[in-house]
This record gives sequence, C-alpha cells and structure tokens, in this order.
Amino acid sequence: LVPILLHFILVAATPYSTLPSVLLVGPSGAGKTALLTLFERGPLATHTQQQQHKDEKQRQLNNTAVALTHTSQAPATVELSVSDDGASSFRDDLDAAGSAHKKFLLVDTPGHAKLRRHALARIQGTTATTAAAVTTTTSSSSSDSSSKSKVKAVVFVVDAAALADGDALPETAGYLYEVLLSLQKRMGAGKGSRAPASVPVLVAANKLDLFTALPAALVRSNLEAELGRIRRTRSRGLLDSGVGADEDVAAAGAAGDESDNWLGEYGSDKFSFKQMLEFDIEVDVVGGNVIGEGPGADRWWRWIAERI
Ligand code: GDP
Repeated sequence: LVPILLHFILVAATPYSTLPSVLLVGPSGAGKTALLTLFERGPLATHTQQQQHKDEKQRQLNNTAVALTHTSQAPATVELSVSDDGASSFRDDLDAAGSAHKKFLLVDTPGHAKLRRHALARIQGTTATTAAAVTTTTSSSSSDSSSKSKVKAVVFVVDAAALADGDALPETAGYLYEVLLSLQKRMGAGKGSRAPASVPVLVAANKLDLFTALPAALVRSNLEAELGRIRRTRSRGLLDSGVGADEDVAAAGAAGDESDNWLGEYGSDKFSFKQMLEFDIEVDVVGGNVIGEGPGADRWWRWIAERI
C-alpha cells in the first residue's frame, strides 16, 4: 500500500501534470520530429540530438503491431517555455534569463496511419495513452504523463513540397479531415453544459526552403478543395443510404444525425477553413521551414506562444 500511496503523492505533486500541451499532428515525413527538435534545442541542434528523436520514432514504428493492441504506445514529449508576453523566441533560455515564463508540453504524435487514433483520442480528450515516452536527455524534457495535460492547440504539419505533386494531397487532407471533425464533434458534445475551451489549429506548411514547395496560400486552397471533395464523397455515402439522390444534402441531414458528421457549414457547396469558426475553431495556414534557408519557424512559434 505504501508504494502505491507514494506513487499517488508523487504524481499529484508533479507540477508538470497540469501543464497545457500543444499537439504536433500530421502525416509521416512532414517534419514533426524535426520541428520538435528545433524548438527543444534551437537551430544548433546536433545531428545526434535529432537522431535521438528519430530513433524513438523508429522504435514506435517497429512496434506498430504491438501498439495496435496495447494502448501504452505514446508519443515523444518535450517541455518548453514562452515568456509571459508571448514575445520570446524558441532560441531564448528563459530559465537562465530569469524572466517570467509559462511552460507547456509539445507532444509529437505518430503520423503512421495505423497510429493516428492516439492523436485523435487526445484531441477528443479521451486519451488512449497511459504515459508519454519522454526523452529525458535534457533539462527541458519533462517526465510527466502528458496524456493528462489539457490540449491548448494543434499544429498540423504538412510537407508543402510533397503537396506540389498531388499524390500526397488526398492522404494529408484525409488526416486533416479527421482532426478537424474530431475537434468539431468535441465542441458539439459540450452543448447544453459548458462549452469546452476551443482548440485552434495551425496548419504549418513546412519545407518552404525547397523551391518545389507550394506557397502557404496554395497549400491552403488545395487543402480546402480536397477537404470539400472528401466531404462530398462522404455525403454521397449518406445519400446512397436511404435518401433520394435528387434531394439535397440538407434534407438528408434533417432525416438523421448525418449533420454531425459533416465538416464545417452544413449543406454548403465549397469547404473553407473559415467555416470552422462556426464551431469556434480557428484555423490558420502559415508557411515555414525547419531546415535550410527560408522563412524559418519563428511565425509558428509566435502562433503557439500567443495561445499558451
Ligand atoms: P515526421 O515524420 O513528420 O516527424 O517528419 P521528420 O521530422 O522525421 O522529417 C521527415 C524528413 O523531412 C526528414 O528527413 C527531415 O530532415 C526533413 N525535413 C523536415 N523539415 C524540413 C524542412 O523544413 N525542409 C527540408 N528540406 N526538409 C525537412
């Protein structure tokens, strides 16, 4: 009994368990781990440091089969700080500077299609994870179970260069659709009682250092068009299952709870990220890069800092 009590006392005493978290979500290869490493170590991150996160990710992938049956599969988490006014850079060591700051957890989630339910569960607030696999290599890493933490924001990382050739678009948009629909349902579920705090989404159009990458405005419009296509396909499924094809989609919704599964403004022809505001979900698309020459990651950092 004593060890159990001790465990609970320690868990209750850890200051980290109440830190807010920001989720890094997105398809594999988009640059989530690279971004986590940059924010944790600054631009001078060594190859070895990035390799540690890579190794962790590879271990997760190797364990995919295990992860599918065991819910303990957990993403890498690092603890970061922003100054109280949100104006600090990820390069600043706020602890050393002694300035007032707020801490938060940046949580990398696996992009592999079979592991996405972990990210989606966190977004909906029904964590499938038991404890986060935390890298304990620096003082800025924490040792808490980040799954208890409140999600403040979602950063959906996309590979803007991969989106240019079109093949990656359906997969990327398909995942984004799931993320946005999860957030939308979460807001809907709070109706009647107190509405849950809204969770904003940053679509980080990464790899803008590559000349083949699409600019952020095109990443935005391509994703919106594809999300609209996915929505149409899904609603056709609804129409096929009972409601006449000549009836409009709004009528189909009236017949059941299909509107719950409709992303954005119900019955609208075209999808746009602005429609998510109806559910109090802010979506921004901002370009940047982790590696190479380009706009860098500062605007993403500022976006996060303003929401912590
Ligand atoms: P994850 O699967 O989303 O975590 O993606 P990773 O962080 O493992 O990155 C996938 C690959 O993209 C790696 O080879 C990174 O070095 C590379 N990468 C990440 N960010 C950038 C970037 O801004 N520009 C370029 N050119 N490559 C990047």
